[in-house]
Amino acid sequence: MRPHVSGDRQENRPEESRPPRVVVVGAGFGGIAVAAELLRHGLDDVTLLEAAAEPGGTWFHNRYPGAACDVPSHLYSYSFAQRATWTHLFSRRDEILRYARETADALGITPRIVTGTRVTSCAWDEETRTWTVRAGEGREWVADAVVLATGQLDKPAYPAVEGLSDFAGRSFHTARWDEDYDLRGKRVAVIGTGASAVQLVPEIAPLTAHLTVFQRTGNWFLPGTGRPMPAALNRLLRRPWARRLWRRLLFHGIELLTLCIRRPRTVGRVGALLSAAHMRRRLPDPELRRRVWPDYAFGCKRVLLSSEFLPALARPDVDLVTDRIVRMTPEGPLTEDGRLHQVDCVIHATGFRTNTFVLPMTISGVNGRTIAQCWAHGARAHLGIMVPGFPSLFLMYGPNTNTSGGSILFFLEAQAAFVRRALQLARRHGAVALDVRPEVEEAGLAALRARFEGTAWQTCSSWYRTPDGRNVANWPGYMREYAESTRRLTPAEFRFVPPPGR
Ligand code: NAP
Repeated sequence: MRPHVSGDRQENRPEESRPPRVVVVGAGFGGIAVAAELLRHGLDDVTLLEAAAEPGGTWFHNRYPGAACDVPSHLYSYSFAQRATWTHLFSRRDEILRYARETADALGITPRIVTGTRVTSCAWDEETRTWTVRAGEGREWVADAVVLATGQLDKPAYPAVEGLSDFAGRSFHTARWDEDYDLRGKRVAVIGTGASAVQLVPEIAPLTAHLTVFQRTGNWFLPGTGRPMPAALNRLLRRPWARRLWRRLLFHGIELLTLCIRRPRTVGRVGALLSAAHMRRRLPDPELRRRVWPDYAFGCKRVLLSSEFLPALARPDVDLVTDRIVRMTPEGPLTEDGRLHQVDCVIHATGFRTNTFVLPMTISGVNGRTIAQCWAHGARAHLGIMVPGFPSLFLMYGPNTNTSGGSILFFLEAQAAFVRRALQLARRHGAVALDVRPEVEEAGLAALRARFEGTAWQTCSSWYRTPDGRNVANWPGYMREYAESTRRLTPAEFRFVPPPGR
């Protein structure tokens, strides 16, 4: 098959004025952010390849009952596409997905999205100094720059329990919800008590005949409500100045959570006290409370915003099981105390295979070296965006750019601006691509790792960390620090790749 050249629509422009051909892998919030940034700056040769049938990324895939965002909507939305009104303070999945699509439509991004296209490899060609992006059925795209916007939480993880496939009833993952299955009147098990489970459980508890929630580790909670946005606040936020002020308040308010995590012995204790008060209020039963209580510092794992989950556990038709699951049987989970929990359906709210980021896609750079080889000892990238030896290959929401407190959209916008500035910088230097210097990435990584010392993140195991304890998921500081770090590109930090033949 003839390779599809991303720049086909630019064929008539002279070489030097033609914008770089950019292929973006993934059309979720990250892909849309970078496409919006490039288009806004006239870099209009952008093609987005999306594996799913529709754009929207995580909000397309996560359709479990109660799915919502635990970051307030006025912050979990692009700065360049602010909405006057949202129906909820913490918007629900459908509204967020609609927002993503309407934004993509309004900015002319939708026609550039090729859905149903799972990219399998990206290869740098030293001779042509271009990337070849390959997808199933022999489809190929040639690009000057590639942006991998596949997220950190895209590969569902199932519990490492013996005999998992022996279960004879229905079972599925929260991120692959079985919409054909009716939970009404069924005995249901939910495995896991993370951010997805705490949204799901209160929603389905009234429907099921009986619900058993399997918890391995307790969590810290703060108030979070599924209630609609107060009408008076919505009216006020129709005014642009009020919206700006509100967004700023949310921004600084949320940075306080990072402050708690960074200072676990001082401010973190205040966070823990507030959380404890909330948990006592929502769960008066002292025995049940003892069992949900976390045994690690406030903020080590994601602090869960819910006012509904703990009361749901106290329902007479809901059981909390804290004994470890030793095996899955055809009837249901068997726990270490010898109890067999007979259920009709098992829901895996067990999170994602994190820490691998863009893998298993095969990404080969200079001299055929792959990202998998570079990441043999853990994923790493300059500001989470560039890996040395991979010219003009950019990651969105890459290593160490997750936030425990803030809005990921803020990070994505900073990354999108970095990508655009990098492409413009290469052009100004007469280069076809640019590659971050290894010593720059190394120095940045050392500084970043040092910043985790003494933080709450280091006090327990979590999906942020590798088995040997390195935090490869999170940014160790505040949102504003990340924005500052990505704002300025210093030419000396890059190797500029000249056009072929030079
Ligand atoms: P998660 O936070 O990784 O939670 C997975 C849960 O499964 C944990 O409670 C884990 O226990 C448990 N688990 C794993 N294996 C188990 C086993 N064998 N037996 C019993 N329990 C087991 O996953 P998630 O809830 O899907 O959330 C992942 C991330 O997605 C969040 O941290 C957040 O960043 C994002 N998210 C965000 C929102 C939002 O509103 N913005 C909503 C949902 C998800 P341990 O704690 O012991 O590992």
